[in-house]
Amino acid sequence: MKFGTKVIHAGIKPDESTGAIMTPIFQTSTYVQSAPGEHKGYEYARTQNPTRTVLEKNVAELENGKYGISFGSGMAATDTIAKLLKPGDEIIASNDIYGGTYRLFREVYGPYGIKSKFIDMENVADVKSAITENTKMIWVETPTNPMLNIVDLAAVGELTKGTDMIFCVDNTFATPYLQRPLDLGADLIIHSATKYLSGHSDVVSGIIVCKDDELGEQLYFLQNAAGAVPGPQDCFLVLRGIKTLAIRMDRHGENAEAVAKFLITHDKVDEVFWPGFESHPNHEIAKSQMLNFGGMVSFNLKEDTLEAAKKILTGTSLFALAESLGGVESLIGHPATMTHASIPQEDRIKTGCVDSLIRLSIGIEDEEDLIADLKKALDA
Ligand SMILES: *Cc1c(COP(=O)(O)O)cnc(C)c1O
Repeated sequence: MKFGTKVIHAGIKPDESTGAIMTPIFQTSTYVQSAPGEHKGYEYARTQNPTRTVLEKNVAELENGKYGISFGSGMAATDTIAKLLKPGDEIIASNDIYGGTYRLFREVYGPYGIKSKFIDMENVADVKSAITENTKMIWVETPTNPMLNIVDLAAVGELTKGTDMIFCVDNTFATPYLQRPLDLGADLIIHSATKYLSGHSDVVSGIIVCKDDELGEQLYFLQNAAGAVPGPQDCFLVLRGIKTLAIRMDRHGENAEAVAKFLITHDKVDEVFWPGFESHPNHEIAKSQMLNFGGMVSFNLKEDTLEAAKKILTGTSLFALAESLGGVESLIGHPATMTHASIPQEDRIKTGCVDSLIRLSIGIEDEEDLIADLKKALDA
């Protein structure tokens, strides 16, 4: 099955009792047993729910994985992965990852004795030299957030192959339509399904995918033991969104290209960060591991001040000033004061996330309207 068919059919069958073509929302906390211990595979809804099962199978197949383990948010999924580690273990992560992931590793797991190192992963040799005997997890985001750097997944896969290090990829920005990290050597994939997977800005959700039986079993154990599971209505919404993932990602990618190419010509704009430019330092790797360059574009201003950024951020009408990304509508955001405010200023600026950096989540509107809206804000 090809991807555009999989999003609609993988793991999904009409409901056996009614023929309903849409996966029913099983809004129940428990399941009746015919005799003690005799049931249909469902006992209690923290442990299993049929709507959730369909979502987990669907996303597992999209990522070419075997197990899908879903959660009430992307952070709950990340938290569950961190629970695979023990005091003394070390995580090496990209230095411009999602602010919430940085906060979780540093402030929640740090005090439990799990160390985290945040490094520039553009050059995989730097990852190699950061590895110590305590390194148990390599955490990669690509494209990174908000700088849109690209990490060579196959090269990191080579480093971790045959070792006891878990190679985890946050695939939220790319989605399995653009990039499939398990095929390139990753052990685990996590998604904030809040973003492109659901795609309509109407649900908070997360999911992990893996191929390995032992990891799959441990993660299901943790999902049930800690219980940060999604509700059935949320699972339904994510499943519904995924049906249009392929066509949405095509359009997000086309619109992002048009916007990036417009921004680079504007005289108030300093740099535009978009992996589709041939001048992007890892353009060739992006081209080889992604189907298109995604729907995110960041840029900074020649006048690098909060005030100059604020004028643009409040000057658009179609681009809504909001956190999050990956919905059908375009959003504009300011990493320094919004998504990345939990990262200390000094660390933030070192990664290129300067005061005037603006991040765009390009929606699927008509590109002419998006460009006109940005032009109006920049010209003002
Ligand atoms: C939003 C996001 C998360 C966190 O997901 P939530 O669903 O908000 O908990 C993790 N990683 C990336 C890349 C994100 O964009």
